[in-house]
Order: sequence, then structure tokens, then C-alpha cells
Amino acid sequence: MQITLLGTGTSHGVPVPGCSCKTCLSQDQRDIRYRCGAYIWTEDTGILIDTPPEFRLQALKYQIPRIDLVLMTHNHADHVSGFDDLRRYNELQKEAIPVYGNGPCLAGIKGMFPYIFDDAAQIGGGKPQVNLIETKAPFIYQEKITIIPLEVQHGRLAVNGYRIGKMAYVTDCNFIPKESMELLEGLELLILGVLRFRTHATHFNLEAGLRVIQELKPRRSLLTHICHDFKFAEMTSFLPPRGRARL
Ligand SMILES: [Zn+2]
Ligand SMILES: [Zn+2]
Ligand SMILES: [Zn+2]
Repeated sequence: MQITLLGTGTSHGVPVPGCSCKTCLSQDQRDIRYRCGAYIWTEDTGILIDTPPEFRLQALKYQIPRIDLVLMTHNHADHVSGFDDLRRYNELQKEAIPVYGNGPCLAGIKGMFPYIFDDAAQIGGGKPQVNLIETKAPFIYQEKITIIPLEVQHGRLAVNGYRIGKMAYVTDCNFIPKESMELLEGLELLILGVLRFRTHATHFNLEAGLRVIQELKPRRSLLTHICHDFKFAEMTSFLPPRGRARL
């Protein structure tokens, strides 16, 4: 399995327009963060997690060859705004792409992109061809890849994380219910959204995220959805040693 983090920035991205903090002025490429998404290649299948606003740029930067299915975490703008650019992959693959998400997320996508789902809307330069599939329970994609959606809380909103094999992707949450924690046991890799040092109403801060990592003890963890409070080169000084926290 090959996993590419297409972006690791919070909803504003980093640098933040108009900000002159040391992270936003940094010349370090690791301080330039597109909005969050991931691309997973496994079993000859390309899986996209979320369609962030920079999706087209990410597809070019990481040379995404094909997208067999899309897993949506939730329909906040920073995770969905690049949805229209899926149409290029319809052109390449000449078929509709299945898009999985929970019910509210899929309803939100329909509301944000009504023309895609309106057969009477003129096609013009093309519309994405997608099949929206509501998913809560684990499913097996084409009899070869088991995908486990797990519900986590993003403030009052229930959003999906996903586990595929021994990898899990959980962004935008501030609480993981017990049933979902159990589904996250025995991981090789946990990708976890952690916003900043200070607490936040709908996201884990660093301290809370590290507590989750300590409890689950994945072999390796990567933090994503991080804001400009975190200057990459300084992070090692305040993250626990690799062996102890398994970071
Ligand atoms: Zn977000
Ligand atoms: Zn800044
Ligand atoms: Zn969100």
C-alpha cells in the first residue's frame, strides 16, 4: 500500500493569506500546506480521500494516475471544494466514480454542487459523473479491499474516518467514540488531524491528539490538518521522542 498525503494544512491552508508569522513567512517547503486529502494506491486501485480545494494542483504535483473510488470524510468546504475536478478522471476512465460518505455528507455535496445531480443542467465543459453511496458499515470494494468507515465527532457533526488494512485516516475530530477506538486497534499507521496547541471546539489540539496516539499505540503516526502554529522544523522539539510516543 502506498499512501500520499496530498495536503496537511487546516481549512485556511498554510501560509495563511495576510499572515506574517514565522511559519507563514517560512521558506521551508514543509511549511507550505495544501488543504487535507490523501491518495492511496493498493491492489491496483486508486483511492482518494476527500477532494480539497487544491485537488487539481495536488493531482498534478503527485501525478495521480486514476481514481477508482472516493471516500469523503465530511462536506466542509476545505474537504470538498475540488469535487468538480473529478470530471477529468471520468474522461480518462470513461466511467462514473463511486463516492462514499455518510448521509449528511452526501446530502451536503448535493446541496453544494446541484448542477452535477441535475440531469436538466447543461453539460458545458463537463460534469463529474459520480455515484454517491452512503456508507456506515464496513464494505469490500470489488472483492479485494476491505474499507471500514468509523464515526468520529467533529464538534456536533458526526464525520467519517476510514480504516483500510492497518492504516487509518482520521481528520477533523475532537472525540473518538469507544466503538471507533476499538476499530483503530493494531494499526501500522494512524493519520490523525491535530489542529494546534490551544484547545478548539471541533478539533483535537496537540495534547489531546497525542493522548489518542498513546492509547492506540499505532506503530507510526502522522499528524495532519495542522495550522500555522506549527513550524515544521520546530515540531521535533515539542513532540515526544519517537520510541515513547510511537510518532
Ligand atoms: Zn477540515
Ligand atoms: Zn501565519
Ligand atoms: Zn471540518
